Amino acid sequence: MAVSTCDSKKTFSRRSILAGALGGLGWSSLARADEVAQQVRKDAPIARKEPLKITKLETFLVKPRWLFLKVHTNAGIVGLGEPILEGRALTCAEAVKEIESYLIGKDPRQVVHHWQAIYRHAFYRGGPILTSALSGIDMALWDIKGKALGVPIYELLGGPTRTRIRVYAHAGTPERIKELAAKGFTAFKTGPAKHRPSRYVETPAEVHYAAEKFAELRQAAGDDVDIAIDFHGAISPALAKVLIKALEPYHPMFIEEPVQCQNHDIMAEIARGTHLPIATGERVFTKWGFREVLEKKAATILQPDLSHSSSKRDTSTCRPGPAWGSSSTKMRWPTRSATIGRTASFMMRMTVRWWIGKRYR
Ligand SMILES: [Mg+2]
Repeated sequence: MAVSTCDSKKTFSRRSILAGALGGLGWSSLARADEVAQQVRKDAPIARKEPLKITKLETFLVKPRWLFLKVHTNAGIVGLGEPILEGRALTCAEAVKEIESYLIGKDPRQVVHHWQAIYRHAFYRGGPILTSALSGIDMALWDIKGKALGVPIYELLGGPTRTRIRVYAHAGTPERIKELAAKGFTAFKTGPAKHRPSRYVETPAEVHYAAEKFAELRQAAGDDVDIAIDFHGAISPALAKVLIKALEPYHPMFIEEPVQCQNHDIMAEIARGTHLPIATGERVFTKWGFREVLEKKAATILQPDLSHSSSKRDTSTCRPGPAWGSSSTKMRWPTRSATIGRTASFMMRMTVRWWIGKRYR
């Protein structure tokens, strides 16, 4: 760990003074007080009022497509984030670099202030690249704040609402479903089976093929487990309507991105045409993007990705309720990102009650 000015100041921190005062009670008390002080330092390496400044932002490109961020501070506390947009890792790294000059010398604990400054004070707001870069920075600043205070981030978001997190696994064949079910999985996700890239309007044979393959998964899994299906936004609206009708008898858990995910009007039209839950969100950015999804009733399951959605705190406010026009919306974090993004989303899941599942890998 780097030695810093704050390390030397810690010698005279309120905690160490308190420990010293307790030590006056006797040698055994002194030893105990020192032990307590050490533990406090371990949990919260810097006192709340001690200065803390960002000194450097460092990105790491990991092939084939990952980008990680380290935000360094003068106290040796390092925050980790994942500012990634699939296929645009280098672009995101440059975007982070362009934001670095604003952050250097700032107190990283003012997480929301920095989010506002970076997002609102730019001439152009939002967009996948900027919100993904900002997501990684936001993640890293929350990480520093949690480490500085000595608490997990879910404590800063209101504390845990659960002790367990349900996960689902990908499975495309009956054999794979049985194999994973034997390991304890009770939820799965798959994609539509097809012989070729989908046409705008498909033949009855192709539609039947997709439905039959899903039916095979349902038969292998039984009715006590959940199987979701992800159209990846790659199906035309006309075909999506037909395909959803063919799948309805087999009760998919939800239909994910049934059509191009940024066309919320079309998605709302699809949602009105089926009783199956519609899911979207891994390509929706900021809380305003999710507001549009909810106001248009385009989906009842939200899937924010913390590596894209831009703000951990704002994402936690994308909650269902009368004000949003939907009382049945559920949250699910898909996390197409890697380790750090997934850890961040686990922190979010700990604090959100109306949550239904997380991708296993
Ligand atoms: Mg998806």
